[in-house]
Amino acid sequence: MADPLLFLDVDGPLIPFGGTHDEDSSLPARVDPALGPLLRALPCELVWATTWMEDANERIAPILGLPPLPMIGWPGPSTAPPGRLQWKTETIVGYASGRPFVWIDDEFGFADIDWVAAAHPAPALLHHVDPSIGLTLEDLATVEAWLGQLGSQR
Ligand SMILES: [Mg+2]
Repeated sequence: MADPLLFLDVDGPLIPFGGTHDEDSSLPARVDPALGPLLRALPCELVWATTWMEDANERIAPILGLPPLPMIGWPGPSTAPPGRLQWKTETIVGYASGRPFVWIDDEFGFADIDWVAAAHPAPALLHHVDPSIGLTLEDLATVEAWLGQLGSQR
């Protein structure tokens, strides 16, 4: 099995109360630099899964002490039936291409979890973060434990 991926959203998990970054250039100040070394230490490949696109590497990665990361390119408005899947879900599963993955985001639901379980042939952890709090040490401990268990199965 290939190394796991970790898809990382910015607005919500890294920037609590995020979602309007185009309108507020001060939002990166909400990023907690202490999260960077913890994310970097996880046994997986980090990938941006955010509408920040290139700005994630230019403005967010330096705060976290992370190198430039690969990022998912979005195809535009989803063709999924409205109200069912989150707009990122199909693209993330396509990018993973059968590799195990963690997806940290504040905006998926049970339909996404069910759809990924059916559509993706490898283990996947969709880890929901409360956007009013942002990514916590407890969240990272959950992700780390899941990755550790995955590693012990390989
Ligand atoms: Mg978000």
